[in-house]
Amino acid sequence: MIARRLLAPTPGWRRETDVVVVGSGVAGVTTVLAVRHALPTARILLATKSVLDDGSTRWAQGGIAAALGPGDTPEQHLQDTLTAGAGICDERAVRALVTDGPGAVQRLIELGASFDREPSGPLSLTREGGHLRRRIAHAGGDATGAEISRALLAALAEAGQSAELEVIEHALAIDLLQTADGRAAGITLHVLGEGQRDGVGAVHARAVVLATGGFGQVYSATTNPPVSTGDGLALAMRAGAEAADLEFVQFHPTVLWLGPSSRGRQPLISEAVRGEGAVLIDAAGRRFMTGQHPLADLAPRDVVAKAIMRELLTSGTDHVYLDGRHLGPAEWTRRFPTILASCRAHGIDPVTEPIPVVPAAHYVSGGIRTDLHGRTSVPGLYACGEVACTGVHGANRLASNSLLEGLVFAERIAVALGRGLPPAADPAPDARPARLVDPAALGPLQQLMTADAGVLRSGPGLARAAAGLAELGLQDCDKPDADAWQVTNLHLIATALVSSALAREETRGSHWREDFASTVDAWRGHLIVSVGQSGLTSVYEPVLGGQS
Ligand SMILES: Cc1cc2nc3c(=O)[nH]c(=O)nc-3n(C[C@H](O)[C@H](O)[C@H](O)COP(=O)(O)OP(=O)(O)OC[C@H]3O[C@@H](n4cnc5c(N)ncnc54)[C@H](O)[C@@H]3O)c2cc1C
Repeated sequence: MIARRLLAPTPGWRRETDVVVVGSGVAGVTTVLAVRHALPTARILLATKSVLDDGSTRWAQGGIAAALGPGDTPEQHLQDTLTAGAGICDERAVRALVTDGPGAVQRLIELGASFDREPSGPLSLTREGGHLRRRIAHAGGDATGAEISRALLAALAEAGQSAELEVIEHALAIDLLQTADGRAAGITLHVLGEGQRDGVGAVHARAVVLATGGFGQVYSATTNPPVSTGDGLALAMRAGAEAADLEFVQFHPTVLWLGPSSRGRQPLISEAVRGEGAVLIDAAGRRFMTGQHPLADLAPRDVVAKAIMRELLTSGTDHVYLDGRHLGPAEWTRRFPTILASCRAHGIDPVTEPIPVVPAAHYVSGGIRTDLHGRTSVPGLYACGEVACTGVHGANRLASNSLLEGLVFAERIAVALGRGLPPAADPAPDARPARLVDPAALGPLQQLMTADAGVLRSGPGLARAAAGLAELGLQDCDKPDADAWQVTNLHLIATALVSSALAREETRGSHWREDFASTVDAWRGHLIVSVGQSGLTSVYEPVLGGQS
């Protein structure tokens, strides 16, 4: 059974605002700054469940893609994005991304973000898999996300707290408040340690913007931080919002293997390391990518991830190695200082030894379905960043398009809100019962998702995952704390993801079916999932016309 509402206790405090933004990554903070610009007198409340810079944004390494270099055009960026998306991108959304992208990066620079530059002055642009041009701007070598986060949070701090802008950390959004006719009217928050606002409270707002990031924590191996539990997606679905493309999860082929029982965020070894000549080898030193793809170690991410998983299955080992010793100490320090430091912090020195690596969940292409201005199917509810499915990524994200998507679509939400906020309305009292999954289900849930709904998928494996999830869902919990809410959210998302992955009997983009190895034209479309009174419902929507 799927709970439609999680709010158990009666809210102990109440707050009125105009716009509530949930999440403080690139998407959430950009939304706040852009809405302030569009509506200078509007009251904005930003709620985030940990400290401000906790989220995927600060961990982004490679960079941010935009047609900024000589000879590059938004049209070329569009073509590369459509190719990566394997036939199901929304071309209008991609066009918005690539057209607005250069300006959005420029505004970030004007805000104070410092990107790496050539000695002669222009931005230093690199290339990543799938891009036919050098168009990835980066900062601090491989610390792009940290610099973007720093610049955005500095601008937020400069805006200062006032009657028009309030920021609450350690505030976990639980559920959407809705009017009797289903419109978003605010959010319930569980705040830890905020004095008078400690505990569960209600924020009434005219518009709600979800910028809560991805759900990598649904898997046992992930590059995402612990806050990536898909809360925004789950609460939107419980409120009746449509979700799309949940089966398309991008796995990064190379994260640092930290041992058999590692959990949570695992350090990423960027594909730029392979771009600089590092190669994948097995325990005997054999290069196993040779002959598997014309580009060998630089094959697309999903091809490399799949090859590694096969290697692990046939060899019975739990990791392979990435050998970048040829780079030498100077190049490692200059080009990959963050990766070098995080490997060394875990006792591995890439200068002198191969790095143990495994594939891990990295990025979610699907999410809450939105239009070109972040509107969801629930009036008054908006979403941007990784939690949203704007249609930009289709079946597979082109590298470095996600930070850009967060910027561009946050700004587009501000444009929509700037044209007029929805009228204020009281939320309807909610009598539906709360039902939470026991936090003890987390480990088994992550293990079964990695084993049966991860890189390699098949009908029998996915059916096994669905049965396992149904059983874990029976483990009720009557203590409504943050852990229980987050595990309940992960359980809903895992169930929806598995149902879509089982239904999609083909291989497309990042969705690989061992039992349906080809891409099937009849499956060129989207699975739209939502929660109704009787549980999950799924509708298939073919893509009409456009590129195949
Ligand atoms: C290791 C790594 C490397 C990456 N490298 C790149 C790259 O080079 N280029 C690129 O384009 N992309 C990259 N990505 C992807 C990119 O970083 C993310 O897609 C992007 O930063 C997402 O931004 P966001 O604002 O949507 O979410 P996040 O940055 O994840 O922020 C989500 C926010 O929501 C908050 N939150 C979550 N749930 C709740 C709740 N219930 N209540 C209140 N607050 C909540 C979190 O605390 C956080 O503040 C990388 C990702 C990772 C993990």
